[in-house]
Amino acid sequence: METPKNPFPIDFRIREGLSRIAMALRVDEWKKAKDVGLNPTQLAILALLEGRKDGLNVKEIAAHLGVSQPTATDSIAALEKKQRLEKRAEQGDRRAVRVYLTPMGLAALQPDTGDSLAEQAVGSLDKLEQQQLLLTLIKMIRHLQESDAIPVQRMCVTCRYFAPFAHPDAGQPHHCHFVNAAFGQRELRVDCRDHEEADPTSRAATWEAFQAG
Ligand code: SF4
Repeated sequence: METPKNPFPIDFRIREGLSRIAMALRVDEWKKAKDVGLNPTQLAILALLEGRKDGLNVKEIAAHLGVSQPTATDSIAALEKKQRLEKRAEQGDRRAVRVYLTPMGLAALQPDTGDSLAEQAVGSLDKLEQQQLLLTLIKMIRHLQESDAIPVQRMCVTCRYFAPFAHPDAGQPHHCHFVNAAFGQRELRVDCRDHEEADPTSRAATWEAFQAG
């Protein structure tokens, strides 16, 4: 019998906890997608394409969503039929296609209203707890991408414009060279439309400086 003195290992219990949060996220995603006549995979593809002026190909979309290429292809075809996205031939290779968001696709990406289950759960944390959770998530996501389990995400810590702890101000220690402005830990981005991926050596140096700060 499981007792407090002899629980399952902590990594197992953290995974259990994450799976409960993932369950709430799935409920949120189904609701959001249903409101605009899509399914969660289709809506996730539109969200992924937002702000990507060069579009994405099927392989990249499948890798970002963690689905097979045939699944991604089916969802793309359904979205194309609904005029939510369009395919264009890749420059220099007419047989390869890239996928782009259309104005109708962008319209399906309604802003969060703040009443989703996930937002309610995050709202139950105080400001410091929220910041700690954000930093923990960034660290976990970075680990996954640096071990090639997921594609590089559009996070500040992988961006060539990011200068961690460049300012003495404890409230706004970081600098974004894209907008040339200081910002704080709470403003760190997980999916920034202006992100430009730094090369692996710069990424490693930035992460070291971020951790040291
Ligand atoms: S461009 Fe975006 S991802 Fe890059 S440092 Fe600025 S805010 Fe962060």
